[in-house]
Amino acid sequence: MSAALEARGLVVRYGPTTAVDGIDLDLARGEVLALLGPNGAGKSSTVEVCTGFRPASGGRVTVLGHAPDDDAVRPRVGVMPQGGGAYPAVRTGEMLHLVADCAAHPIDPGRLLDVLGLRHRARTPYKRLSGGEQQRLALACAVVGRPELVFLDEPTAGLDPQARHLVWDLVRALRRDGVGVLLTTHLMDEAEQLADDVVIIDKGRVVAHGSPAQLTAGDQTELRFRAPAGMDTAGLDDRLPDGYATTETTPGRYRVQGRIDPGALAAITSWCADQGVMADDVQVVRRSLEDVFLDLTGRELRP
Ligand code: ADP
Repeated sequence: MSAALEARGLVVRYGPTTAVDGIDLDLARGEVLALLGPNGAGKSSTVEVCTGFRPASGGRVTVLGHAPDDDAVRPRVGVMPQGGGAYPAVRTGEMLHLVADCAAHPIDPGRLLDVLGLRHRARTPYKRLSGGEQQRLALACAVVGRPELVFLDEPTAGLDPQARHLVWDLVRALRRDGVGVLLTTHLMDEAEQLADDVVIIDKGRVVAHGSPAQLTAGDQTELRFRAPAGMDTAGLDDRLPDGYATTETTPGRYRVQGRIDPGALAAITSWCADQGVMADDVQVVRRSLEDVFLDLTGRELRP
């Protein structure tokens, strides 16, 4: 069976601006791929090519084994664009039925309204829905036709935590059903919770690629502990090999950045003992996806 999505050397140019500069993507069916990047990284341009909305300036993209703008592939792909969109006067339930009627084997629209917490809004006109409800309706419209591949652009931006969890549950259900899901997000926990694979792009290029566990593995960890405020930690750094740095982040809380292996842990606790203090609340902290992102792009994930 063909992959859900494959991109090789994708390039997107707008006049003299190269927005996407040769990226590769692979998404299998039944997997979730999160595309992360700061604003202007090239995420939307990438998604626009993959959904057949814009031609590539270079490289090759296949969607379910076809060109993205192939008519044969359109009914098999669901797209939730940012900002959604519907006729202002159409009622929520009508809108979803309208989209479902275009599909050969749609999901029951009523069930989808239940899953996304929209049942009580079925008779409400689109323009009277809250932003979060409009967004959930856009998601419902993207999946009601039982697509084999779904593109979700910032699917939970602006949703409250409860609605966010409804959306996450739906994404997990899609994955279980063998649907390939490509999502763009600014939310690290969303990528960590949902994605099998994460691609971080910056300035149109892939700067990191792997599962959340692979991206956050490695030895860049840190150790935190509590001890009396105001200790002179220069002596501790002298005991550790080059590359370690200790700071007192707030009075009485210390952070040692560097590779925390058994030797480093022993050096830290023995230095504390030599000072006659007990290192309390000792924690070894792994890097988060957010730390990885910051290291790679120098920027916060949120715009
Ligand atoms: P992201 O979705 O990651 O924020 P975009 O794909 O929207 O990134 O944009 C990537 C780059 O391409 C940015 O520098 C942006 O200004 C530029 N860009 C996007 N769309 C257009 C356009 N229609 N015309 C000219 N430049 C564009």
